[in-house]
Amino acid sequence: MKDLLSGNEAIARGAYEYGVKVATAYPGTPSTEILENVVNYKDDIYCEWSPNEKVAMEVAIGSAFAGARSLVAMKHVGLNVAADPFMTLSYTGIKGGLVIVSADDPSMHSSQNEQDNRHYARFAKVPMLEPSNSQEAKDMVGDALEISEEFDTPIILRTTTRISHAKTIVETGEREESEVPDEFKKDPDKFVMVPANAKKRHPVIEKRMENLKEFAEKTSLNKIEWNKKDIGIITGGVAYNYAKEVFPEASVLKLGLTHPLPEKKIKDFANKVEKLYVIEELDPFMEDQIKAMGINVIGKEKLPVTFEYNTKVLRDNLINEEKQSENEENLTEDLPQRPPALCSGCPHRSVFYTLNKLGVTVTGDIGCYALGVVPPLSAMDSVVCMGASIGNAHGVELALGEDAQGKVVGVIGDSTFMHSGITGLLDIVYNKGASTIIILDNRITAMTGHQENPTTGKTLMGEDTPKIDLAKLSEALGVNSVQVVDPYKLDETEKTIQEELNKDEISVVIARRACALLKSVEKKKPFKVDPEKCINCGQCLELGCPAISQGEGQAEIDDYLCTGCEVCVQVCPVDAIVKDGDSNE
Ligand code: SF4
Ligand code: SF4
Repeated sequence: MKDLLSGNEAIARGAYEYGVKVATAYPGTPSTEILENVVNYKDDIYCEWSPNEKVAMEVAIGSAFAGARSLVAMKHVGLNVAADPFMTLSYTGIKGGLVIVSADDPSMHSSQNEQDNRHYARFAKVPMLEPSNSQEAKDMVGDALEISEEFDTPIILRTTTRISHAKTIVETGEREESEVPDEFKKDPDKFVMVPANAKKRHPVIEKRMENLKEFAEKTSLNKIEWNKKDIGIITGGVAYNYAKEVFPEASVLKLGLTHPLPEKKIKDFANKVEKLYVIEELDPFMEDQIKAMGINVIGKEKLPVTFEYNTKVLRDNLINEEKQSENEENLTEDLPQRPPALCSGCPHRSVFYTLNKLGVTVTGDIGCYALGVVPPLSAMDSVVCMGASIGNAHGVELALGEDAQGKVVGVIGDSTFMHSGITGLLDIVYNKGASTIIILDNRITAMTGHQENPTTGKTLMGEDTPKIDLAKLSEALGVNSVQVVDPYKLDETEKTIQEELNKDEISVVIARRACALLKSVEKKKPFKVDPEKCINCGQCLELGCPAISQGEGQAEIDDYLCTGCEVCVQVCPVDAIVKDGDSNE
């Protein structure tokens, strides 16, 4: 049967068709929809949102050690979190096939950096596959599981945003069940990486790489498409599509297995073409290795190492067809700019409004609340990575000493706190810091599209489960001062934050109010501005609510966008913001 699937949907389908038994992930764009689609096969595949990528990796490792085909998915920066178990997993190898999906994000559409995770394959000495479309994304799940089992290795399936989210036609099939042993087969020499065992495993890994290099020469995952021989192109992943479009007459060596590289095949190909390009997004991952083989190629001296490629980038840099490039650029140049903003009725808005008003230093975290940095809220001074806000706050206080007293706040979301904020808080308690930490608890993992997490009381499989109580957890970690506020109540929020800032000990404020976009949250009657009362002071505009704008001589509220949260009502000095029907109009 044929279906139109995104790369992420196709990977989920591949997990189903190729007998995956356990699939785990922490949501992160562009990988999130993989597990959101695996759950459609929950009768055959156990799946879970793990609290972070390291745990997701560890769960998948456990199931693979027991012999079950397993898949773990994460965005590129997630592999940093999971790198510790991942690097040792290369040593242990697997029993059941284990696929690690790394969804990279060139151009940083939704990420804090642009790292090229192909380096992880070399770093950990594991094979890597890169699909060029959704069909390959599905098929390569099967290829990856086979390679994983044949070579006793975890394997990376690397996608990029355009593969993850673009839809292409996929031929789907039936599920092939995989066998799982009845019991865990003990094999401590392989699975227990104490130094004596790890020393024996390292040479095994080197031999495995040699075997994989031989495999790379003959696998159909690496194929040559012969055409005219004046131009030859070595490419893989999404760049293959751009190369084919810009150089339809060229011969192409398309690499699906991009680590390890097939040296003989590359040399043969290079010898038969006149001019050879390596076309790959981001780092010169293949190019450097091919140059080290003594082959002359044109790559990053002409093509950029930053951001995504497209046909315009290739044309401008390799054949300079300016006219055609201009036409393509015109497709987007007239679109209006749409700067990101916290949603109308977002419960985080009032917290950032308050923090801005208090003039404190705010160390922030990854989540929609990172938008607290955008004017007019402008209340965020750092964002580094998942969970970093708490340690960052402690660090700022250590650096400033007494000068920091009452002036530093770390903010973190509920899901991010579960992901990796807990240990930061533990560190401050243990080291007797005095930071004020605000947990922005909007009852869901919001930024990636409303996934469940340990605080929500539901699993990915839709089952009820215990809800982790953030206040009790903070207390259990040793925080004496824990307060819960409703961020829609501005005075209460400010008073509580100020109170905690004044304390000479670690304190936690939980700003609890569900994400305004949750289906379960009822949208209240919208407010409007009474033109008779409005003095056009601009106070309400300082909230940055997308529903409020500057009208002619007064503020205006868009009743379609307004969720009726009442926060703006509390900042208006002349009570000009009223419920529809209560105005003088
Ligand atoms: S009540 Fe005010 S702050 Fe809340 S959504 Fe409506 S306009 Fe925005
Ligand atoms: S805060 Fe009140 S008075 Fe000031 S612009 Fe907004 S609606 Fe008008």
